[in-house]
Amino acid sequence: MLNLKNQIRAAVAASRARIMTIAEQILHHPELGYREFQASRLMRDLFGELGLPVQENLAITDCRAVLDSGRPGPTVALLGEFDALPVPAHPLADPATGAAHACGHHAQSAALAGAAIALTATKAREKLSGKIVFITCPAEEFQGLDFCRKLIAEKKLVYCGGKAELIRLGVFDDVDIAMMIHGGCEHFSPASFNGFVMKKIVFTGKASHAGLKPQLGINALSMARQALSLIDAQRDTFEDQDSVRIHGIITHGGAAVNVVPDRVELELQIRGKTPAAIRDAAEKVERCLQAAAMAFAGAVQVETLPGYMPFKSCPELEQLHAANLKSIAPEVTFSTGTHRGSSTDMGDVSMIIPSLHAYNGGFTGTPHGTDFLVTDPDQAYVQAAALLALNAVDLLFGDAATGKRIAALPTPLRREEYRQLMLETSRPAEWNYRKDKAV
Ligand SMILES: [Zn+2]
Ligand SMILES: [Zn+2]
Repeated sequence: MLNLKNQIRAAVAASRARIMTIAEQILHHPELGYREFQASRLMRDLFGELGLPVQENLAITDCRAVLDSGRPGPTVALLGEFDALPVPAHPLADPATGAAHACGHHAQSAALAGAAIALTATKAREKLSGKIVFITCPAEEFQGLDFCRKLIAEKKLVYCGGKAELIRLGVFDDVDIAMMIHGGCEHFSPASFNGFVMKKIVFTGKASHAGLKPQLGINALSMARQALSLIDAQRDTFEDQDSVRIHGIITHGGAAVNVVPDRVELELQIRGKTPAAIRDAAEKVERCLQAAAMAFAGAVQVETLPGYMPFKSCPELEQLHAANLKSIAPEVTFSTGTHRGSSTDMGDVSMIIPSLHAYNGGFTGTPHGTDFLVTDPDQAYVQAAALLALNAVDLLFGDAATGKRIAALPTPLRREEYRQLMLETSRPAEWNYRKDKAV
């Protein structure tokens, strides 16, 4: 195996210029979720050039290529996200859309490309069992809720999260183990991330002259303010270990200052460490919304959309990743075991498949900030490419004994349980306390 691993490292080093070019091309053409057409074409063309069979246009911009050893064994998925997010003040933002790679997803696609180049160039398939699938992943950044809702209404999507949509479409049906490496400022692998659900909320009241006849109106902004206050007061009721976070924005606060607001819209994100914690918090939020509508004899409509499932890391995958990192960068410190209050759609994958979501260095600044930039492209792109390929070799070398063992590890949910949970989460609710029921 050492021989093959040395060949992989040499092949990655030899393709350094190509990996850098792919990273730069995606970095300088940032595309928002479900609109990553150029990045998708770039990756599809590369996989085709490597002679790998490619499926494309899955979840609008995803493509999936397969390297088949021809021998039975587990299927290992290597994942690379490629969506940007709106940070208009970022120095590399697209002036037209405000999109920028302020989360560094361009590095993931470059690493995925480098891994595919190295694994094909070395003829690794002759030494492995099972399959390696390369999956480009759209729309990890949960933003543009109304854009996603439009795609859902047009029946182009069912879920906003890219990986949830890929799971729904069957892209992970044959996958036994999944791994990805996210760009960061340090090398580590979180044990877990929060999951979340989204709520799109509309309070409806009644317009009236705010100075002359406010008593004839029903103030939707008052309902929203009281609902947010009630939600704040719920914070005492959450268990510390559930890591619950509820945050939101008012996306429409009224039409004019001299009119009692008759329509106020909010978006709330409800996070927690387990599906049960999220469900509990979401029920409390709904009670607060309902109570505020009742207090003012108004109405509230609540649309709940699945966000991301909580992420749970596979320690066995972390161990082999740490060993490969040590072999190529012995000076680097690698840590594990922390919980993150943020979320990733890799959570959905980790609920049903043993998964790794490691961070690799090479960046500086604050993720999603204007200063998040690559300062060490060799770490961010080339080292990450080598790690993905080396991890896959560990899992599938020979008769794939390590891969088979890890593939058999239990996951938090069975696939059918996951599907059911996603279906149950998507639901509308409405409470109308208006005397005239005129909503
Ligand atoms: Zn991000
Ligand atoms: Zn990210």
